[in-house]
Amino acid sequence: MEDKKILVVEDNVMNLELVSDLLEAHGFSVVQAQSGAAAIELAEKEQPDLILMDLQLPEMDGLEATRRLKQNQLTNRIDVVALTAHAMLGDEEKAREAGCSGYIAKPINTREFAEVISGFLDGGPPTAEED
Ligand code: MN
Repeated sequence: MEDKKILVVEDNVMNLELVSDLLEAHGFSVVQAQSGAAAIELAEKEQPDLILMDLQLPEMDGLEATRRLKQNQLTNRIDVVALTAHAMLGDEEKAREAGCSGYIAKPINTREFAEVISGFLDGGPPTAEED
């Protein structure tokens, strides 16, 4: 079982619970935030192994929250993986520019999700392509 802590940032409570349940079912420990500001505060305090960041958040969006995490000495070494409902062209590029290590499109594939997360924890997405 994984002994890793994941910070899930998602303002939609149903999605937050779905993602958290999936991760916990695979042995990850989960910390939850529903806003960018809460995510930054929790990342500093909890030092998670990975952050899953919804890009569509009210007030501070996920891109801005990621930029701030990457500029913060306490959190800049934590990988951030973007989650977005809109599989829009350009989202992945924007996410990477903000400092995200990768990107997962919603709705998430519940069967493959834990494997994809493990791949990110091992240093990159399992399907990463060469640049
Ligand atoms: Mn959202």
